[in-house]
Amino acid sequence: MSEVRFDDRVAIVTGAGGGLGREHALLLARRGAKVLVNDFGGEADGSGGSATPAKRVAAEIEKAGGVAAANTETVDTPAGGRAIVEQAMDLWGRVDVLVNNAGIAGGGPFHEIPPERVAKMIGVHVEGSYNVGRAAWPVMLERGYGRVVNTSSGSVFGTPGTIHYVTAKAGIIGFTRALAQEGAPAGIKVNAIMPVAYSRLTAAVPAEDFKAWLREHYGPERVAPFVAWLAHEDVPCTGELFTVGGGRAARVFLGVAPGHTASPATPEAYRDHFDEVMSPEGYAIPASAMEEVALNSGEIGWKGAAPPDMHKGADAG
Ligand code: NAD
Repeated sequence: MSEVRFDDRVAIVTGAGGGLGREHALLLARRGAKVLVNDFGGEADGSGGSATPAKRVAAEIEKAGGVAAANTETVDTPAGGRAIVEQAMDLWGRVDVLVNNAGIAGGGPFHEIPPERVAKMIGVHVEGSYNVGRAAWPVMLERGYGRVVNTSSGSVFGTPGTIHYVTAKAGIIGFTRALAQEGAPAGIKVNAIMPVAYSRLTAAVPAEDFKAWLREHYGPERVAPFVAWLAHEDVPCTGELFTVGGGRAARVFLGVAPGHTASPATPEAYRDHFDEVMSPEGYAIPASAMEEVALNSGEIGWKGAAPPDMHKGADAG
C-alpha cells in the first residue's frame, strides 16, 4: 500500500503552536509537506500573544528534518489572514492545504457573556476560518487544487454554558458545506472535523475523572492522521463532517426525515401527525440545499427536473 504523502505540497495550519494544530503540523511535515505553523500564542481565552509557540513547533519540525516556518499573525482579522497566506506564497509559491484549527474557549451563562466575548469567539473561529480561507482561495482557484479542513466541535450537538463557542462552531459547519459547493468545480475539497482530544482547552473541563480519562485515551496525535487524510489529494469527499477522537473517525451528517405533508396544513394536522414529523425512519442526506428543496418539492408534487438554483445570479442575502 502506498503511503499518504504530501511531497511538494504546502500546508498552512492555524493555531499550530500547541494541542491539535501542533500534531496536524508535525504529521503533515513528516509526510513531506512544507508547513506554515501559524499561532498567535496567547491564552486559551484569546488574550495575550507570544511568538514562542509557533517558533517552537516550526523548530521542532526542522529539527526532525522537515520544512517549516513560523507565523504569529492572528487569524481573526482580514489582514492577518492575508499575511498568513502571503508568507506561505513568498516562501514556497503555493498553498495546497489549509487546516483552519485556531480556536479559543470561554464560558458562562448565556445572558452573562458580554457581547465583546461573543464577537471575539465568532471572530477567531468563524471569521478566522473565513479570513485565511478567503486569502488562500484565489491561490487554490488558480492552481485548480486545494484541500481545506475546518474545525467544528461536537459541542454543536448541544452543550450548555458556552453558547458563543457552540454558535461559532455551528457556523463552521455552514461555512464548510457552502465552500465545498463553491470549490467543487475548481478541484477544491472542503471538509470539517469535530475533534475530541486532550488539550489545554479540554484540560479546563471541571470533572477530574473525565479529564484523566481524556488525557489517557484522547491524545491529539490520534486526531491528526484523519486530518491528514482529509488534506490529501486522494480524499474522495467534500462538504462532509466527521467526529474524530481516540483513533475513531465517523461521519456526522445532516439528514432529513420524510416528515408529514399536511393538506390542508393546519396546526391540528401537525399535532395529529407529529410522530411522523419526528420519525427519522427513511431519512435522506441531501448533498446540497437544492437537493433538500428537491426532496421537499417532490413531496408536494413538483414533477419537473430539479428546481432551478434559486441563488444563481441573485444578490447574496
Ligand atoms: P489549544 O488551545 O491547544 O489550541 C488552539 C490554538 O489556537 C492555540 O495554540 C492558540 O494560541 C491558537 N489560537 C487561538 N486564537 C488564535 C488566533 N486568533 N490566531 C492564531 N492562533 C490562535 O486547543 P485545541 O484543543 O488543540 O484546539 C484546536 C481546535 O480544536 C480549536 O478550534 C478547538 O475549538 C477545536 N476543538 C477541540 C476539541 C478538543 O477536544 N480538544 C473539541 C472540539 C473542538
